[in-house]
Formats: sequence, C-alpha cells, structure tokens
Amino acid sequence: MTDRIPQIVIAFEYAIAKTRNQERGVSLSPNRSGDCRDSRSDIAGYPLIAENSSVLHSWCVQSDWNAPTIVGGEGARFWDESGRTYLDMSSLAECMNLGHQHPRLIRAIQEQAQTLCFVNSSWGAKPRAALAERLLDLSGFEGGRVFFTLGGADANEHAVKFARQASGRPQGRVVARDRSYHGASYAAMAWSGDSRTRSHNEEAYGVLRVPPPYAYRCPYGTASDAECADRNVAHIGAVIGQAGADHVAAVMMEPNAGTNGIVAPDNFWPGLRAQTARLGVYLIADEVMSGFGRCGEWFAWQAHGDAGRPDLMTLAKGLTGAHIPLGAVVLARHVAAKLEHAMLNTGLTYCGHPLACAAGVAAIAAYQDEKLIERSRVLGGAMLQRLRAMQERHAVIGDVRGGRGLFAIAELVKNRDTREPLAPWPSLHPSMARFVTTARERGVSFAVRGNLIILAPPLVIEENELERALDIMNALLGELDWS
Ligand code: PLP
Repeated sequence: MTDRIPQIVIAFEYAIAKTRNQERGVSLSPNRSGDCRDSRSDIAGYPLIAENSSVLHSWCVQSDWNAPTIVGGEGARFWDESGRTYLDMSSLAECMNLGHQHPRLIRAIQEQAQTLCFVNSSWGAKPRAALAERLLDLSGFEGGRVFFTLGGADANEHAVKFARQASGRPQGRVVARDRSYHGASYAAMAWSGDSRTRSHNEEAYGVLRVPPPYAYRCPYGTASDAECADRNVAHIGAVIGQAGADHVAAVMMEPNAGTNGIVAPDNFWPGLRAQTARLGVYLIADEVMSGFGRCGEWFAWQAHGDAGRPDLMTLAKGLTGAHIPLGAVVLARHVAAKLEHAMLNTGLTYCGHPLACAAGVAAIAAYQDEKLIERSRVLGGAMLQRLRAMQERHAVIGDVRGGRGLFAIAELVKNRDTREPLAPWPSLHPSMARFVTTARERGVSFAVRGNLIILAPPLVIEENELERALDIMNALLGELDWS
C-alpha cells in the first residue's frame, strides 16, 4: 500500500498540471516524433561557426587560440573543414589509443543509447558491471572493486580518498614527485609536480614532494640509470620515514609515461613497490596515460609482473579511447575489503554512466580482437629505433626514451655534451613552435612540450603512416634552425 502512495501523488500532481497547461494551451504529452523522424540531427543542421569568441579553451591564452574546426576522422587521421587531413602522432591528448571513430565504439554507444542512456549508482547497469568485471580480470585484481569516474583528475582524487579511508589515515599525506601530472582539479593540481598547475597550497593537500627518476638529468648526479632509480626510491623511503609512515596515505606516481617526459629506468617501479610495501604505505599507479597499450601492456606496471602490482590504479583516456569521457579507480582486494562495511561519502552524478561503460567494454574487446597491445609493443620498438637513428643524425636530440609501446620522448638540447637544454624548462624554443606548425602544414600533428617531442600515435596507426610521420620529423629536425 505504502508503495502506491507516491504514484497516487504523482498522478494527482500530473492531473493538476495538465488542467493548468490546458488552460494555457500547452500540451504535457511528450511529442518526440519530430526528433525521431528528422533525418538530420540538431547539430548536423547547425552552421559551421568558429568558436574563438564563445568557448573558453584549456591550456592557452584565449586571444591566441586559432585552430581549425575538426569535422571527421578515421584511424590515425582526422580532418578539418577545409578538407586538410592530419596524421595524429599524439592521439590528440595521448588518449585516442583506438584511433578516431572506431566503428566498434560507435556501435556500442549507439546500441546502449537506444537501450538505456542513464541510471545513477543507486541502480545497477549492465555495462557498468561488465566493465568492472573486465577491468578486474585484466589487471588480475580479483576480489577488488572498481569505482567509475568521469576522467583522470577525479579518478586520482578518489584514489586518494579511498587510500586515506582504507588506511585509516584521513589526513594522510600524499607523496608525489616533481615533473608529474595528475589532473587539473584543485587537489590533483596540488599533487601534480607540473609547471602549469603548480599551486601554492601543497600543504593544504598534504603533498610530500620528491624528485623524479629522471635519469638523463639525474637529481642525484649519477650517470647510471639504475643507480639513479635506486637512489630515488631510497629518497622516497626517507621522506616517508621523516613524515612517519603512519601519517602517509599513499605514494601516487605515473609508472612509465607522462607529459612531463619522465620515463623511469626499469628498476624504479618494482623498487618503489617494494619500498612502499615495506613501509606499509599504499602505492597508487596513475595509469591514466600509460594504460591500455600505451606502454606495451594493458597497464604499464604489468611489465614488472607481480613485483610491480600497485594497491590502487587510476584509469581514463584509453579506457574508452576517448570516444566518451570515463575514468576509473581499480582497488586491490585488500584495499576494497577495508571499505566493505564503511560508508562511502563520495560520488558524482555521472559516475559509471552506462553509455561510457558500454564504450569501455567495446574498447577492451577492440584492444583484444585487434591485438593492439602487442601491436603497440612491436611498433613502439620500431619507432624507438627510428628515433635513435635520428639522434645519430641530429645533434639537437639529446635523449630518446620510452618505446616499450607507442610512447616515446625525444628531448632536445643546445649542446649534447653538456646536455644544456634547448630552452629553459618549460619554455618553448621558437623552432619547436615552428616544428609543430610546419609539420601540420605537411599533414602531421605532433605534440610538444618545452624541449620534448611526445610521440604517442594511436595504436591502430599503419606502419607506412608511422614511417611517413617520422620522415617528416627527421626532415624538419634537419631544416629548422636550433641555435
Ligand atoms: N593523470 C595523467 C597521467 C594524465 O596524463 C592526465 C591527463 O593528461 C590526468 C591524470 C588527468 O586526466 P583528465 O584530463 O582526464 O582529468
């Protein structure tokens, strides 16, 4: 009987509203036939207009923003309204691992949209359960749990929330390194050691800052990559010891790729894992960029097997190949167990959105069926070789690193012997800006940051496309004035 009361109330309110609207000449019956039968969507019928004066754009001075409108894409290419095509050497924001307009993703989103667009997390949703199961399976986190977010920054914020709650250290500090990026929400900015987001309120967000495992410019002054990593791990241990491990909730780091261009020596991650385990501090792997084949594995830590397994990991970008926004925190069984009977006072309206989760399930199927993780490993090796050959030829390339998958960094220098940076970090040498614009004119889109050329093409890139893009890079390194 009590179940029926709300329905009676709704029916009553509906009747009153209907009468009022009839008096005003407004119909309450949904009339959607026009939308469904119209062959042109609202946006297809919209004129093509520039967005310079209406949209606030990220990571730029607004008055400088002047980009063409992109109207389509396929595989490793996208094109603008004038018909100019660009070969995408950065997967846009290192996120389109599956290339542009992957048919399987489009179909999954369309099918899910026809079935059920949304239910919040008070209700179950088939694609959400399916994706959580797939992620636990791929990561070997059996018995763990997955919390879905909208992207990478909120995945990292939630990972820290969970680490603090599960460790019983609600004010626990977060060890994060210089030259890292974890997102642009306030807390994620504070944890990031990034020149763009460096905030002055690190204390408020509990940051314990440590140097990066940057072997090319080792903060410990050693020429050995392995020793640099060992000393970095020992340093992190000392910082935790100084703060008192009981006051530290987590160490959060990118395992092997990031826009700050740090690719850690091989012994760093397993060393860090062992160190944090010894001290009883959770390790959060920020796999937002490094996951889904970017570093030749589903998740970069897997290159080290169980010796690299974190307590929590965060995902976004490749999770749906950026076809729709989605992020996730994957919690190992022992962390999830600590939260099992605790109240979880967190959540965002769109967490675990069914459209996004359906895309995630399709993305995993595409990575598997098209053997894209293996493909990334093979093409990444080939790309690294080409870059090393370029390094032999062009003195401006000081260091080449990465290449476990389709992710590599070419770091440019003024003087290879002294390793003097081409421009003081993070500023951009004029020829670096010219490199980007000229490459675009020649049909290739490269991502650069400071002295770094960040190579991260979609994993579906064809071999001849990769060759062509690297040919253009090689030519431009020879043509431009790097003095
Ligand atoms: N973590 C890493 C390693 C990233 O590279 C990024 C984005 O580039 C983020 C977190 C933030 O992700 P989002 O932009 O989806 O919030």
